[in-house]
Amino acid sequence: MKPVVIIGAGPSGLAAAYELTKNNIPVVVIEQLSQVGGLSRTLVRGEARYDIGPHRFFTKNDEVFGLWKDLLKEDLLSVPRLTRIFYNNKFFYYPLAPMNALFGVGPLAAIGIFFSYFTTRIKERITPVDPVSFEDWVVSQFGRRLFEIFFKTYTEKVWGIPCTKIGAEWAGQRIKGLSLMSAAVNAVFKPQGKKIKTLVDEFVFPRLGAGMFYERMADYALANGGQILLNQHVTGFRHEGNKLIAAVVRHADGSSTDIEGSAFLTSAPLSDGILGLNPLPPAEVLEAARGLRYRSHLGVDLLVEGNPFPDNWIYVHAREVNLARVANYRNFSSAMAPPGGLTPLTVEYFCFKDDGIWSRDDEDLMKLAKSELQRMKILQPEQVRDGFIMCNEKAYPVLEIGYESRMETLKQYIARFDNFQPIGRSGMFKYNNMDHAIVTGLLAARNLLGSKYDVWSVNIDAEYHESGQALPVEKSH
Ligand SMILES: Cc1cc2nc3c(=O)[nH]c(=O)nc-3n(C[C@H](O)[C@H](O)[C@H](O)COP(=O)(O)OP(=O)(O)OC[C@H]3O[C@@H](n4cnc5c(N)ncnc54)[C@H](O)[C@@H]3O)c2cc1C
Repeated sequence: MKPVVIIGAGPSGLAAAYELTKNNIPVVVIEQLSQVGGLSRTLVRGEARYDIGPHRFFTKNDEVFGLWKDLLKEDLLSVPRLTRIFYNNKFFYYPLAPMNALFGVGPLAAIGIFFSYFTTRIKERITPVDPVSFEDWVVSQFGRRLFEIFFKTYTEKVWGIPCTKIGAEWAGQRIKGLSLMSAAVNAVFKPQGKKIKTLVDEFVFPRLGAGMFYERMADYALANGGQILLNQHVTGFRHEGNKLIAAVVRHADGSSTDIEGSAFLTSAPLSDGILGLNPLPPAEVLEAARGLRYRSHLGVDLLVEGNPFPDNWIYVHAREVNLARVANYRNFSSAMAPPGGLTPLTVEYFCFKDDGIWSRDDEDLMKLAKSELQRMKILQPEQVRDGFIMCNEKAYPVLEIGYESRMETLKQYIARFDNFQPIGRSGMFKYNNMDHAIVTGLLAARNLLGSKYDVWSVNIDAEYHESGQALPVEKSH
């Protein structure tokens, strides 16, 4: 029996491998990197551990939570959450605590926020508008002043496009279920019962970093007869009629190997998969694939003396610096920090591949990160003991206005293949968190076992996301 071929050993690919090997189906996972975990991997440098930016484990899905518990057991920690926003040279609790925010922005600005909120709510009642962009959506929910202070800069740093060009759908997904009123009520009364997803103030986390869970998943698949090929880059797929026949792996010397399979699940970026089909799809399909854009993520990983701040991570809204967020892994799990009072941090930059910052050399990037942290009064450059750069070229699918029609074209084309399923975040071009990526892998695997899930529908109710908008509220995201 030919194996199921899975491209990518990230959360979605490994979840599929886990489910299939559990059901005695042979699988081959092909991964281009030298380790498993994808964007959720943990890098080990000496005795320090770094994730790819902060990776909070949070899910509403009982099955996923059960998997985390089963595979991690006592290595699944419960971590208190502290996250703040750096804006206007001050720190604001995220989500906002009313008194902290009031004193932070000053009474005049606070009055302005409430005035703009209430006038917007009244206008909305009289002439409701159907929001098209992220900006329309947030302004209509929270008022323009709040949008300008706590949403605009960070969002534009992360996505690299104006908020008027980001689809309202993303805002709806990201911060659905939250209103200024419910946030204020939550801040003051801390109601029990149904929590608003953005307001959760504790999360679970693997002791040795996010990647620890995916290493456990990989171990399970290997122990149950699965194969995981590392350092192998898939450049495309051969197909005939309504079937994919083989994944093509290209080697450094220019030669290639076909890996044949009975079915193919891919978490590699969707556009790469489509552009790598042999024979090539029609021109309009290729054009749709070329039109999908991904945002890149640059992590400047620093090992510093002492523990420079108490947060798990800080969102940096300040315009004066380019960094968007800084994560502190000692505050996720002390086991990620080496002995001697050192702390591993990731200073995060978002960019497109043709932005200057992407091609800056490592020394230059480290200088930039150190000087920006110094400017924020987080640390002095002399405190940095070690550093390296981690680049992820296709980290965030850019959900700009117009991407949906491209996706429709691609989905319709893909539907002709009866043994091909895209899975995961880049594979499905969705703003997926780990739990959703895991679910896409599990469901795609179950489809191969006879079920009929619509994998594209996973994530419709995604209200809690990692990149962290500042929300006008108390208690966490
Ligand atoms: C900075 C940042 C912070 C995040 N924070 C959180 C958070 O707090 N909580 C949360 O739940 N989620 C978070 N996420 C999202 C999370 O990382 C993803 O949802 C998850 O990793 C997606 O899993 P995946 O399997 O779909 O894709 P990936 O993790 O991208 O894995 C895909 C794998 O496929 C491999 N691959 C790609 N192309 C090829 C090819 N051609 N050949 C072979 N292999 C290939 C890649 O190397 C990779 O290993 C964050 C993401 C980022 C970037």
